[in-house]
Amino acid sequence: MVFDKQHYALCSHCDLVIELTNVGMGHKAICPRCHTTLAKNNIQMKLRASMYAICSLIMIIIACGFIFIDIRLVGNFNGVSVLDIPQILYVDKYSYISALFIFFVLVFPVLNLLIIILLCSKLTLTKYRKRDFLIVYEKFQHWCMPEIFLTGVLVSFVKLMSYGNIGVTGTFWAFCLFVFFYIKATVIFTPETIWNEILTNNFASNTLKTGKTGISQHLKLCTCCQAILPAHYAKCPRCKQKSELRGRSKIQWTIALLVTSLIIYIPANVFGIMITVVFGSSSSSTIMDGVIYMWQAGDIPVALVIFTASVVIPILKIISLSWLCYFALAVKHKNKHDCLKMKKLYNAVEFIGKWSMIDIFVVSVVCSLVRSQQMMGVYPDIGVTFFATVVIITMIASQKFDPRLIWDHTDKKIK
Ligand SMILES: [Zn+2]
Ligand SMILES: [Zn+2]
Repeated sequence: MVFDKQHYALCSHCDLVIELTNVGMGHKAICPRCHTTLAKNNIQMKLRASMYAICSLIMIIIACGFIFIDIRLVGNFNGVSVLDIPQILYVDKYSYISALFIFFVLVFPVLNLLIIILLCSKLTLTKYRKRDFLIVYEKFQHWCMPEIFLTGVLVSFVKLMSYGNIGVTGTFWAFCLFVFFYIKATVIFTPETIWNEILTNNFASNTLKTGKTGISQHLKLCTCCQAILPAHYAKCPRCKQKSELRGRSKIQWTIALLVTSLIIYIPANVFGIMITVVFGSSSSSTIMDGVIYMWQAGDIPVALVIFTASVVIPILKIISLSWLCYFALAVKHKNKHDCLKMKKLYNAVEFIGKWSMIDIFVVSVVCSLVRSQQMMGVYPDIGVTFFATVVIITMIASQKFDPRLIWDHTDKKIK
């Protein structure tokens, strides 16, 4: 690991310059102002991350090959493998949801695991190759959702119990292990270690003053590779990505996307998300119908999970992001306490964002399992498409938001 004698970090949230002299093995460095993790020094990072990644890949290969959940439905036996779910959605003409499933649950996580293995292996990769891999890894990481799918499967069990007897096979446990090893690998893997192997993280010509903000010293942080750059650099020399002093123009994107998601949120709730066909007569149910049904059936915890994930989280997310935009742009007198609260809110929005996908996965699992020739069947309805779009748009909206804007006007007080 390349550690400069004067190793500095610029906090990605509050823009504070901090000196990092050797972070001990197994320790991490935290920003004193906003408590963001600045650097991690995991013990045997490469070996452990690649081992977990290899185990995870083995598990997903097993999990894809065989039936992982089955259901006994009015005399019929119906089982699906992980790969059957997108296939059934595709046949039902929901290729959009099918594609989301394939990419978010399988393709992106598997590609990221392969990248971890390649970057942590002893292979001699050129620095350009390493850079490309790291950029892809960072982009995909936002959209990997195997753990959310697994939670969705567990929630759908409760829904499925009303249709028939459910059974899980050994393959289901293999999928659980895939998710566990995947999380382990991504937590241990620290991209900054690989970035520092490519080039140093500090491109500032003058000596940095710690405890002051980067902007006051004409410095900025590369949002892609976290390098410290002089403010006039248009491109980062390390990752070759465009770099701005602040993503102020991106706030307009955030606001535009929030308005869009608010509009799409209406059809997502008005239209049904599932159609149940029993002996030829079909009935469509919306998200709220599902919650009410669960509540009345006595499955209160599941009703609450679905209500929180599908109704509360999207609305809270839209309100929170609007509030963050307002705070970043319009509030003139900010104190540290408020900024810290806003930072926590932003972290929460970033974290819970993708969990709204649970309902989409529940619908996918239920629809692929409950099929019994002419007698009974559950099919996705158009509301699913709208709802998935709302989740994706709000996720992009929160990624466009630049958290450094929260702290910007507190500058004067620090100086
Ligand atoms: Zn900070
Ligand atoms: Zn960079």
